[in-house]
Amino acid sequence: MIAALLFSSKRFIMSELPPCPKCDSPYSYEDGSQLVCPECAHEWQLGGEDEEQGLVVHDSNGNLLQDGDTVTVIKDLKVKGSSLVVKVGTKAKNIRLVEGDHDIDCKIPGVGAMKLKSQFVKKQ
Ligand SMILES: [Zn+2]
Repeated sequence: MIAALLFSSKRFIMSELPPCPKCDSPYSYEDGSQLVCPECAHEWQLGGEDEEQGLVVHDSNGNLLQDGDTVTVIKDLKVKGSSLVVKVGTKAKNIRLVEGDHDIDCKIPGVGAMKLKSQFVKKQ
């Protein structure tokens, strides 16, 4: 009896998930943020559920920026609290998006870690 109950509740959870897009198996299950098909081993993402990556940051051209992108500075930027200037054309590799007024966290060669405003950069 207990086994039967467990089985039926499991089936209920499974029926909430979409079937495998590859082989149409209804037995797909969630594995972290993705779905896995036990029959053909296909793995895929459930569409439109990227809520953990809630930050939407665009560069000066309106392109969507992502963590790990390389951007180029489009105007000379003074570094707060120093006499350093980040020159136009400076590249920042492997950026990280953060919340706030300055929404890009990055390392600039010769300057170090700093924050940039996305409106002053463009994506490589
Ligand atoms: Zn499958």
